[in-house]
Amino acid sequence: SDHALDYPASPAQMDWDAHYPAFAGEGKTPEFADVGCGFGGLLIALAPLFPETLMLGMEIRVQVSQYVHDRIVALRATSAPTEPAAHGPYQNVSIVRANAMKFMPNYFPKHSLSSLFFLFPDPHFKARKHKARIISPTLLAEYAYVLRPGGIVYTITDVRDLHEWMKAHLESFPLFEPVSEDALRAEGKGPILDAVYTSTEEGKKVERNQGEKWLACFRRIEVERCN
Ligand code: SAM
Repeated sequence: SDHALDYPASPAQMDWDAHYPAFAGEGKTPEFADVGCGFGGLLIALAPLFPETLMLGMEIRVQVSQYVHDRIVALRATSAPTEPAAHGPYQNVSIVRANAMKFMPNYFPKHSLSSLFFLFPDPHFKARKHKARIISPTLLAEYAYVLRPGGIVYTITDVRDLHEWMKAHLESFPLFEPVSEDALRAEGKGPILDAVYTSTEEGKKVERNQGEKWLACFRRIEVERCN
């Protein structure tokens, strides 16, 4: 029914210049990854705040990823240009159709990401489906690999059980330590947190339904044990 999932054999195979033509030749790779980005609200909110930071959305649904692609093309074409020296509006944001549960290390070099976002991920309520959750013991090793030391994992959900699950697994994984919202705001990450709470389509839906939002953030620790 849907297209075959195309994915790179390794990050070196990724043609980032095609994704970010205004940055072509600079050798940059994405620093922010939005996993299951849906309709792209977070990326669109963050792009103008960090114009020199490359950002990538990963979305498994064909039509949704196509929609985000078209949205970015339109924004690049119609937004007022930024100052002459800059790369131009929304040039720093792109999307791939990808199964992020299988192929994260195929896209991102080791320690290349500074921020990894899991915003309102699908909850998979049934216990037998817990392995299908986007945060699981197996996947955390991959996330720790692509995140640079000091990098941040942002999670938010309106499903309390899923919040507790993600928190518990991240807390017990040796390469992540919890970091409070206040601490992140004190480091200047307030605009990122505001976008995490309110910029996505799912986040807005939760607001309309007056649902609660559960945030949990973690830092990729600096020290790596060698034994
Ligand atoms: N983060 C967005 C937001 O806050 O509006 C979308 C939230 S939506 C509930 C979850 C999204 O994750 C869906 O668009 C779904 O297609 C996508 N998704 C689920 N599993 C995925 C996977 N393995 N890889 C990439 N995307 C996935």
